[in-house]
Amino acid sequence: MPMHSLLFVFWKEKARSNFVHWEAMTTQTPISILVVGGGVAGPSLGISLKKLGMPANITIIEAYPKADPENIIGSYFTLQDNGADALKTLGVFEEVRSAGVDTTASNMMRGDGKVLAKMPFGNSVTVKRGKVNMILMDAAERAGCTVRYATKLIATEQKPHPTDSSKHVVLATFGDGSQETYDLVVGADGVHSSLRTTIDPQNAPAGRYVGLVNYAGVAPPPPTELKANMTPCAWNFCFALKAFILYHVRPDGHIIWGVNEPRGRVSKEERDAMTEVSARKYLIELFADDKNPLITHMLSHGPIELMGDNQCDLGNVPKWFNDEKTIVLVGDAVHAPSPTSGQGGSMALEDGIVLAKALHENPNSIGAALEAYEAFRRARVEKIVANGARMSKNKMPGKIGRFVRDLMMPLVAKCVDMAELNNWVCAYRIIWDLPLSQQPAAPTTSMRKVFFGGGAGSKKATSTQ
Ligand SMILES: Cc1cc2nc3c(=O)[nH]c(=O)nc-3n(C[C@H](O)[C@H](O)[C@H](O)COP(=O)(O)OP(=O)(O)OC[C@H]3O[C@@H](n4cnc5c(N)ncnc54)[C@H](O)[C@@H]3O)c2cc1C
Repeated sequence: MPMHSLLFVFWKEKARSNFVHWEAMTTQTPISILVVGGGVAGPSLGISLKKLGMPANITIIEAYPKADPENIIGSYFTLQDNGADALKTLGVFEEVRSAGVDTTASNMMRGDGKVLAKMPFGNSVTVKRGKVNMILMDAAERAGCTVRYATKLIATEQKPHPTDSSKHVVLATFGDGSQETYDLVVGADGVHSSLRTTIDPQNAPAGRYVGLVNYAGVAPPPPTELKANMTPCAWNFCFALKAFILYHVRPDGHIIWGVNEPRGRVSKEERDAMTEVSARKYLIELFADDKNPLITHMLSHGPIELMGDNQCDLGNVPKWFNDEKTIVLVGDAVHAPSPTSGQGGSMALEDGIVLAKALHENPNSIGAALEAYEAFRRARVEKIVANGARMSKNKMPGKIGRFVRDLMMPLVAKCVDMAELNNWVCAYRIIWDLPLSQQPAAPTTSMRKVFFGGGAGSKKATSTQ
């Protein structure tokens, strides 16, 4: 067959398949979707579905009331390059960025303030988690989702589908006693997800305590004589003697800080008894041996926004959706990397986009969509959770470990291209215009480039010794 005829056949086939797809989409009755959780993954899914033009009635519920935009409580988190790219896909990157602070570098330090190495941190953004939640929920509402705050899902029940005996629907019961039926319920309800247990009552794992307790706060600008280690746009990671402390200077000079203390779980009674005054006193004592006046300043002033939070991760969840294929999990509900990985938020954003694409590409079968979503996501997220667990473990070495670390870190920083090392995590992109089956393979990390340079857009870290 001549080339032009071949091209014509190809064009005709493509036009036909596009038409069939379009016809299926336009004549289809909209499916009803309940998204449980207005954190990161939930609104990411809602925005993506609307952006794809999916014929669906989407309701996103959040158990907490809507926060006052001028007074958002809670701590900060950092969305790395892959998360920032997902925010661009969702159309909210600039809004998030202007609410936060750019993060492009990191300093690895000892507790006494001695810098061991300086490393690149991509083009990340550090912002209050609650602010991101609000920006995403507002965007989902603008896109056409129904958004309901102060609404808690308390029970679900499988019911036969009214017109198709091979399918089920979900009867959802809310905190106020009202009930509604949905074709699909999406559990974006975080690491302590109750829908995870609904899906798999026997085997659903609980979040695994990783051995670190978190605290976080914001301190006012320090006196001038303490401003030496105040690099702008950088996370400072300090390996102190008894705990790990990280801090980031905001453009207004305020300091965002977080502490990870290696210890056993904080019990409910212990947390209930904790006050800002008692936590502050405890933390100042914890870092006293490091004799670092900047750390003492941070812990002594400004609000403490997170106290006694047991750091958990969630690795292998056997079932991502139920047998009836009417309930599916996204974000921390199905795979929570430890906060040390700095990837939970980015993973949640990616999940929302991928599940939306899977549903859009399988307009006639929710079941096929859920299978496609899990097949596409499981390997990546489980690898990132495992990586985060390793990072959490290595945070607080003993005396010998500390000696080796202080000796080796400057050397490693000189020889290793950290951006290339993290390529597989942060250079990952979901291409909006391509179907899931045609997405490029995840970028790999080339060990040759890690040690001998040439990584994409990356530069070696610098040692300070
Ligand atoms: C201390 C700390 C530091 C972190 N730092 C980072 C970081 O630097 N970078 C990063 O990417 N990630 C970080 N993370 C992880 C990140 O916050 C999570 O991965 C991310 O928030 C997960 O988003 P999600 O939407 O899946 O769940 P969540 O953000 O937990 O949202 C779940 C939502 O569901 C709601 N909900 C639960 N049950 C119900 C119900 N029955 N009905 C209605 N609503 C319900 C909850 O109220 C909540 O708002 C950190 C986490 C912690 C704890």
